[in-house]
Parts: sequence; C-alpha cells; structure tokens
Amino acid sequence: MELVFVTNNPGKVKEINNLLGDSFKLKSLKDLNFDGEIPEIYPTIEENASAKAFYIYERFSVNCFADDTALEVEALNNQPGVYSARFAEIDGSISFDSKEQMTEANIEKLLRLLRDKDSRKARFRTVISLVTGGREKRFEGIVRGEIIHQKRGKAGFGYDPVFVPEGHRHTFAEMSLDEKNRISHRAEAFRKLVEYLKRRG
Ligand code: IMP
Repeated sequence: MELVFVTNNPGKVKEINNLLGDSFKLKSLKDLNFDGEIPEIYPTIEENASAKAFYIYERFSVNCFADDTALEVEALNNQPGVYSARFAEIDGSISFDSKEQMTEANIEKLLRLLRDKDSRKARFRTVISLVTGGREKRFEGIVRGEIIHQKRGKAGFGYDPVFVPEGHRHTFAEMSLDEKNRISHRAEAFRKLVEYLKRRG
C-alpha cells in the first residue's frame, strides 16, 4: 500500500519508515513535489492534524497521515498547547530571525511563567490523523513528565532541554535518540499507527 506522510521533515520520515517495514511504500510531500505551506489555523492539535491530512488527500487523492504535537503544562491551563512551536510570538509583535532564537525564547517564556507555580507537571501529546479512502482514524501518544528550572542537555529539539519524563532523571535533551524514541509521545502515536496499518494489511 502506498501512503504519504504529510511532512517536510526527512528525520520523521526515516523514523517511521524504520517502524513500517517493506509492506508499505512511504512517501513524503517531497515525492508529491509539494513544497507549499499547509495552514495550521485551528485551536486544537486534533483539528490541525486532520486539516493537514485532508488537505493533501483532497488535492492529490492519496492515502496519507499527518501529525501534530503539543506541550501541555498543567499549571498553565495546558499552554503552550497548539501554540508550542511559536509560544514566544503569540502575544506580541515579536518575530524571530531563526528557529533557534524562537526555541530559546519559547523556553524562556515557559520558565518565566512557571516561576511562581507549585506544579511543574507537563506532558507532550502527539495526534496522528490517518486518512484512507476519505475516512479518518486518529492515534494519540502521550508522555508525562516535569519542566525543570534550567536547561540541561544538547540533543533533541524544542522543549527537550527542560523536560524530564516521569520515572527518569535525564531530560529528553540528555538522552540518545534511541532512548527518547522508546518512551516519546511521537513514537507511541507512530507505533499505534503502524500496528493498525499492519493489522489491516
Ligand atoms: P510538531 O507538531 O511536531 O511540529 O511540534 C510542534 C512544536 O512542539 C515543536 O515546534 C516543538 O516546539 C514542540 N515539540 C514537539 N515535539 C517535541 C519533542 O519531542 N521535544 C520537544 N519539543 C517538541
């Protein structure tokens, strides 16, 4: 079966290709020669994942899936949530020159907002929307943990340096990719998708 992963991130494609095996021919947006921006305008990651998958399904008539991830912090009413990627940007006219600057500012904002809070509990949540034959099925992966007070570690991306998963001492940024993939939100959602696809054949 041919399946398109609605992403421009080659790292994500490689990760899921490893899990899928030979029975599926996984393609990405690059293979469709699509390099446009798909609008992510909805207030939930569920809606954004669905919108991305249906956008490609409708334009290219291909079975496909899309993912969306949020960091949800308990004491901040589940913020940054759907705005995780551009948390530092949303309530002002600030804009950043690079992804690195934005990530830095996102973490600073998060630590500032948590300074006087008792709970530092947080979770990463990934939702995958699979659209085949015009019908949708969703998969979810969650990892719970805590936001620490200072960044630790250099690996990974996004909020990894300040997130320690439950039952662990290291941040995601102090773990190898293999270690992170054993427990991460995205890996759990991907595994559920892969199990479903293999079961369905
Ligand atoms: P995306 O939906 O995978 O693009 O994720 C949205 C945003 O959530 C990213 O830009 C990151 O800020 C954050 N994020 C998602 N996954 C992770 C992760 O595994 N570690 C740290 N931050 C993440």
